[in-house]
Amino acid sequence: MSKSPFSEQQLADNLIYKTLVESTLAIPWSIEWDTKTFSYIGPQIEKLLGWSQGSWKTVGDWADRMHETDREWVVNYCVQQSLEGIDHEADYRALTATGEYVWIRDVVHVVRKPDGTVERLVGFMFDISERKRQEQELEDLKKKLEEYSYQDNLTGIANRRLFEHLFEREWLSAIKEKSLFSMILLDIDYFKAYNDNYGHIQGDIALRQVAQILKKSLHRPRDMVARFGGEEFAIILPNTNETDAMNIAKLIKHNIEMAQIEHIKSEVVPYLSVSMGVKSTLVHEADEKVQFLRDVDKALYRSKRSGRNQYSNVNYEMKC
Ligand code: GH3
Ligand code: MG
Ligand code: MG
Repeated sequence: MSKSPFSEQQLADNLIYKTLVESTLAIPWSIEWDTKTFSYIGPQIEKLLGWSQGSWKTVGDWADRMHETDREWVVNYCVQQSLEGIDHEADYRALTATGEYVWIRDVVHVVRKPDGTVERLVGFMFDISERKRQEQELEDLKKKLEEYSYQDNLTGIANRRLFEHLFEREWLSAIKEKSLFSMILLDIDYFKAYNDNYGHIQGDIALRQVAQILKKSLHRPRDMVARFGGEEFAIILPNTNETDAMNIAKLIKHNIEMAQIEHIKSEVVPYLSVSMGVKSTLVHEADEKVQFLRDVDKALYRSKRSGRNQYSNVNYEMKC
């Protein structure tokens, strides 16, 4: 038997280290820098990824078993950090023998020769799939919350907050594009009487119906309806001239009529009706926005005063 260069104590210590390192969940490995070959990888790798311990020969095996989206930046980053002698870590998706992917965090320590050049890399691979899954869940939840904070609870359409946000955005786009911007403000007629007669719950149902009718009356992707407050709705119509905006108001009036939502306490017609104000403008200044909204509201008020169940533009050219 050839004589070992290690003492019995050293051999016993090595065995303890090996046992410890190979019984952790983290997977230890070591790569010789000159040859770019694995001098060691823990046997746990087979359980995690399905590739046998002996199949990890070169850094090429490591790079090949990586999601192609992650490969380039991870390899470049690790090489660059190693050359600079900086310990580092990288998260990537490792390919399993059965063709699935597992999120790995590779933590790398750079061992240098006395002259400062890289001798080998040693590190641990950690299975972080669970953590990534939780991160993704959190991300999805945040997105949902954001959606909810822009959604009106009762009707499910955009709320006032989203309206303000989009009004601002489309207004600025209209300045940039030198395009016409239109808006419709809409208020349900005698809705207090509706609630008093049919009850608040039925009132809520009617509000949802109206919201859906308004949504279905819009066909272009940037047109948007929001619940402005109570039984009032606002419709943003970017890049729309006044004739087209009036035509949309006409269509809305028609669609509401067709729904025939009974409202026997209305003083205009025996079904639910709405009044609308319409305005169109060529936007020049960001601060004209407030006055614009006031003007649309004035047009709406005009429709109310002139008998309800109608729409009118700001110049008070009545269109029933
Ligand atoms: P007008 O034709 O002048 O608009 O009369 P109106 O009765 O519709 O106007 P008013 O502003 O007096 O009443 C609005 C009503 O809308 C009163 C309020 O109870 C009702 N309303 C506001 N928000 C809700 C809601 O979320 N659910 C229900 N059911 N009713 C609501
Ligand atoms: Mg109102
Ligand atoms: Mg009303």
